[in-house]
Amino acid sequence: MFEKILIANRGEIALRVHRACREMGIKTVAVHSTADADAMDVRLADESVCIGPPSSTESYLNIPSIIAAAEVTNSDAIHPGYGFLSENANFVDIVTAHGIKFIGPTADHIRLMGDKIAAKETMIKLGVPCVPGSEGEITTLADAEQVAADIGYPVIIKASAGGGGRGMKVATGPDTISEAFSSARSEANLAFGNDAVYIEKYLSGPRHIEIQILADGKGNVVHLGERDCSLQRRHQKALEESPSPALSDDARVRIGETVSKAIGDMKYEGVGTIEFLYENDEFYFIEMNTRLQVEHPVTEMVTGIDLVQAQINVAAGLPLTLTQKDITFSGHAIECRITAEDPVTFAASPGPVNEFHVPGGLGVRVDSGLYAGYMVPPYYDSLIAKLIVHADSREECLLRLNRALEEFVVSGIKTTLPLHQELLQNEEFQKGDYNIHWLEKFIENR
Ligand code: ADP
Repeated sequence: MFEKILIANRGEIALRVHRACREMGIKTVAVHSTADADAMDVRLADESVCIGPPSSTESYLNIPSIIAAAEVTNSDAIHPGYGFLSENANFVDIVTAHGIKFIGPTADHIRLMGDKIAAKETMIKLGVPCVPGSEGEITTLADAEQVAADIGYPVIIKASAGGGGRGMKVATGPDTISEAFSSARSEANLAFGNDAVYIEKYLSGPRHIEIQILADGKGNVVHLGERDCSLQRRHQKALEESPSPALSDDARVRIGETVSKAIGDMKYEGVGTIEFLYENDEFYFIEMNTRLQVEHPVTEMVTGIDLVQAQINVAAGLPLTLTQKDITFSGHAIECRITAEDPVTFAASPGPVNEFHVPGGLGVRVDSGLYAGYMVPPYYDSLIAKLIVHADSREECLLRLNRALEEFVVSGIKTTLPLHQELLQNEEFQKGDYNIHWLEKFIENR
């Protein structure tokens, strides 16, 4: 087992990884920008190293600084968290070349899945159903028009290097394809330095259902069920739950088996998420994330499996001893993403936190690096806390979530806590009757 792990991230996920290491008796190294010197994960880690100024490019994305920090602290592995360098295959190559273990899949698997066109081609070969669309990259408007006419409007033009909902444009008919095609390409070029795009049928009202997998690189794989992440604003998830209110046991078994087989055939190592759109009882693969996800606690609550510890174990070379039969699902879990944003306008709201009181009690978990007196810096992602609630049934989970939200106090900055409270009062949400477009309409009409 590793003796010391460097955590190449910040915020709640850095703390989450620290907690897993602590329980495994592994020492931790926190790396931080000058803006994060007072962060909770930095305070709790065994050692900390400042890796640069506030700007992410000069700190959390600064590969030479991170490698230097790992070398001076004698760390034997690096956990990348999510975001930042977690899906950067070149970083994995550099880490590996320095004799340090990257906690995650191989650089080749990250590269393959990071290229969404190649990822789709791979999944088709492995027997995973995909959204109908172009075969590979589309480079000319004429081709875009032809493909769109063949699959039928509406279509969505997506960046092959895409992520975070950027570089995606919908064309509703032949009159909008030209604008959608050129704006998707320029947005992709600006955001990712790569203007390759492809086309998919734009599904009218699917749910976003994703399957969590855990694999050891030796062909052993288990799936840990699904998360329903349909509640999104601007293609970004706001609330996630497991099990999905819309999935039958049969559908879960069917997609779980398909995914496990594909991941085993790939000899994938680590945790990963296979994302699907789900409509009329059909699954359509959209992408694979080769890292731990923000919403992983939802799965931990219903399976009782610590995904970060599992990830560290397989990275250390331990074979997966769990088999699919060992995985049991119990009760219902919901996660609310709390961000430092105005709950009405969504304007960023960084600044000093005056009061911070988290809810507690049975089945309530809060993953957050905040504390009273903490200063939310303006430089990074606005996620400040995840409230995760678990109960025997969805009904009980909603009641528990409601009371937990009532107890949660954050003052000094604006947060999206009131949005989640409003959402819980909505009857359609209570019934689980929503798709990927639902939250935007809810926000528009409230
Ligand atoms: P990113 O990597 O930027 O997050 P994804 O491919 O995962 O992009 O898609 C993000 C979200 O965009 C999905 O959860 C869904 O809401 C929407 N989306 C993507 N592809 C389609 C599609 N073909 N039809 C309808 N909605 C889509």
